[in-house]
Amino acid sequence: MKAIEISGTREISIIDKAEPAISAPDEVLVKVKAVSICGTDVHTFQGEHPFVKPPVVVGHECCGEIVECGSGVTGFAPADRVAIDPVLGCGSCRACRSGRANACANVSCRGVHVEGAMQEYFKIRECDLHKLPDTVDDLALGAVVEPMAIGAQACWRGSVAKDQIVLVFGAGPIGIAVMLNAHCLGARCILVDMKEDRLQRAVELGALATFTATDPDLKDKILSLTDGEGPHVTCDAVGHPAIFEQCIDLVAPTGTVVLLGMDGSPNEVTELQIFRKEMTVVGSRMNSNMFPTILDRVASGQMKLEHMVSHRFAVDQATEAFKMAVEQPAGFLKAMIVF
Ligand SMILES: [Zn+2]
Ligand SMILES: [Zn+2]
Repeated sequence: MKAIEISGTREISIIDKAEPAISAPDEVLVKVKAVSICGTDVHTFQGEHPFVKPPVVVGHECCGEIVECGSGVTGFAPADRVAIDPVLGCGSCRACRSGRANACANVSCRGVHVEGAMQEYFKIRECDLHKLPDTVDDLALGAVVEPMAIGAQACWRGSVAKDQIVLVFGAGPIGIAVMLNAHCLGARCILVDMKEDRLQRAVELGALATFTATDPDLKDKILSLTDGEGPHVTCDAVGHPAIFEQCIDLVAPTGTVVLLGMDGSPNEVTELQIFRKEMTVVGSRMNSNMFPTILDRVASGQMKLEHMVSHRFAVDQATEAFKMAVEQPAGFLKAMIVF
C-alpha cells in the first residue's frame, strides 16, 4: 500500500509499505479516506518538531471506511464510515480512569508519538472509532472532527455558556473551532489575529467582532463590546506569553482563561491579577472524548465540518499540500489529503 512519508526536512516521499494486519480482537482495519494537516505535522515537515524526526508517517486528523474487524469488535462492521480519535492514554492512571486520557502523564497521540494515518490502511482500536452521521455525505470531512474536538474541549474547559462572550486570540483552525463550538452553545465570539483574511473568514462564520492583533485600541474596543467588564471567557489559541498576559488582563471578574498553547517560556502574570478577579485559569489539551459531542452537533446541523477545510490535495500532491500549509497563503485555513 501507499504511505506518505516525511522523509527529510521539507521532503515528502510516497513509499510502499506492508498493509497492516489485525492481530488483536479489538482491532479494526480502516481504509483511510482523508487526513488533514495540522500545525504539528508542519513542524515535523519543517524539521522543527522537538522530538518527531524523519523518516516518519504523520497524520492524526483522519477518517475512513472500515474494511475488517477483529473477532472481539461489537460496535462496528465493515463499510462503517468512521472518524478516528488519536489520543492514547496509559489506561490505568487517575487521569485515564476519569476519562481524561488527554492529560495522562504518559499520553501519546497517533501521528505524533506513534505512527500516523497518512497511509492507505490504518489499524486502530475499536475504542478510538466514532461513526460519522449519515448526514455527512462527503466522507473526507470526517478528518476534521479531530480539530473541531479541540474547540469543543476548550469550550468545555472554559465552561462556555449561552449568551456569554468569548474572546479568542488566533483565527486559525483552532480559533475557528473554538468559535464554531461556542456558537453551538449559544455564546458569541470576538476573534483577534494578525491576518486580515482569517478575520474575514471569522466574520463570514458569524463572529460578533474581529480585531487586528496590533490594534492600539484593542482593550478599549473589547471592553466597549462587553459592557466595560470584559469577556466571560478569554482563550489563547496561539500560545504566546504576551497573549496569555492579555487573556488575564481582559477577562471579566469571575471569568475563565483557557490556554491551548504550548509555549514553555515564562510570562509576567502575577498572583494578584488572578486573585483580584477570582478568575479561573485552565489548560485545554487535545480532547477527552469530545468526538461524540462534535458528531451530535454535525448530525443536528448545528455545525458544518466543511468550514474547517480550505484546500484539498490528492496523495501524489502531498508535497504541495505541506508547502501550502507552511506558506499559509491568503484564504488558507486547513489542507486535506484525500486518498
Ligand atoms: Zn492537530
Ligand atoms: Zn494514563
